[in-house]
Amino acid sequence: MTHPTRALVDLSAIRDNVRLLAEAAGRPVMAMVKADAYGHGAVPVARAALDAGATWLGVAFADEALALRAAGITAPLLAGVCPPGADLVAAIKAEVDLGVGSIRLVREAADAAVAAGRPARVHLKADTGMSRGGQTVQGWPALVEAALKAEAEGSVRIIGIWSHMACSDEPEHPSVAGQTAAFAEMVRYAENAGVRPELRHLANSSAALHLPDTRWDLVRPGIAIYGLNPAPALPDPGLRPAMTVTSTVTVAKRVPKGSGVSYGHQYTTERETTVALVPAGYADGVPRAGSGILEVLAAGARRRIAGRVCMDQFVLDVGDDAVAEGDEVVLFGPGDRGEATATDWAEAVGTVSYEIVTRLGGRVPRVHTG
Ligand SMILES: *Cc1c(COP(=O)(O)O)cnc(C)c1O
Repeated sequence: MTHPTRALVDLSAIRDNVRLLAEAAGRPVMAMVKADAYGHGAVPVARAALDAGATWLGVAFADEALALRAAGITAPLLAGVCPPGADLVAAIKAEVDLGVGSIRLVREAADAAVAAGRPARVHLKADTGMSRGGQTVQGWPALVEAALKAEAEGSVRIIGIWSHMACSDEPEHPSVAGQTAAFAEMVRYAENAGVRPELRHLANSSAALHLPDTRWDLVRPGIAIYGLNPAPALPDPGLRPAMTVTSTVTVAKRVPKGSGVSYGHQYTTERETTVALVPAGYADGVPRAGSGILEVLAAGARRRIAGRVCMDQFVLDVGDDAVAEGDEVVLFGPGDRGEATATDWAEAVGTVSYEIVTRLGGRVPRVHTG
């Protein structure tokens, strides 16, 4: 592996986190591996999650689902977001379940099922108060009716009813009780209308951990599988961050007092000092908003990035400490060695840990261990 920056992904942490979540929720787990498993590598993570007892996998798009199938993964698999033009025929042939939140999509799934030669397996999406995908209470009866009609015709099988929480990381938020009640109501409506779902599911990571009334038949954790606390304001249940991003010092040199560092000279050395160059930049997922803010572990200590993060590199001012070309730099990780975590980085730049790990650049190799 020649690229200087790499993401080590500890699959044993993934397995431990899946087991912890299944135990905490007391429910089967659909491991959410969308967006290349939040940047961790979808295929190895999916296999690890299944090894640890996850019974389902979830992704956003059909193409992500087909990539898992192409890798030989046969577990039940839900593609939750089906935009116009998605290759539903290929998905249905590959036994990928489809999240269906509109009558348009019921029709498309039914037509694709005829072409695929087998029924489309669908999960009806309820909008219980997030105003994202799915039908609101007003549109729900028509969606249920259309799906039941397609089921009676043999082109669709209604496998699930599902929805998504907007504020599960804030258990006191008024929307939590509202969404929980709306889901129960919409499930009841569909069941009274004749739907016999195998799975009713609502809970993402934070809901699975903190909101027992959202657990229903299966939980859909994402971020917690990767070991990142879904609700940093609430206690961490003992998750282990799976990803450690490291790089290597490529240049270490003395510069005089008053040297401007990186673009715009946002940082100037206060005295003669050693600067170390680290070959990771915003193309690799180091947020440029973290210029002069983010801390990395280098030459035995946590050090703040000096000046601007460039596309491919950033600079550290290590003072008179010993540092040499080839020394390891830890950008973030589980924190065991004193390095920052993805959650620390997120808080420092005003985002969530989800974005820090998911936006890791495509040129950073993911190296799986454990
Ligand atoms: C991403 C996603 C999840 C997982 O959310 P986390 O907060 O990462 O646990 C669950 N369900 C749906 C529909 C999602 O889009």
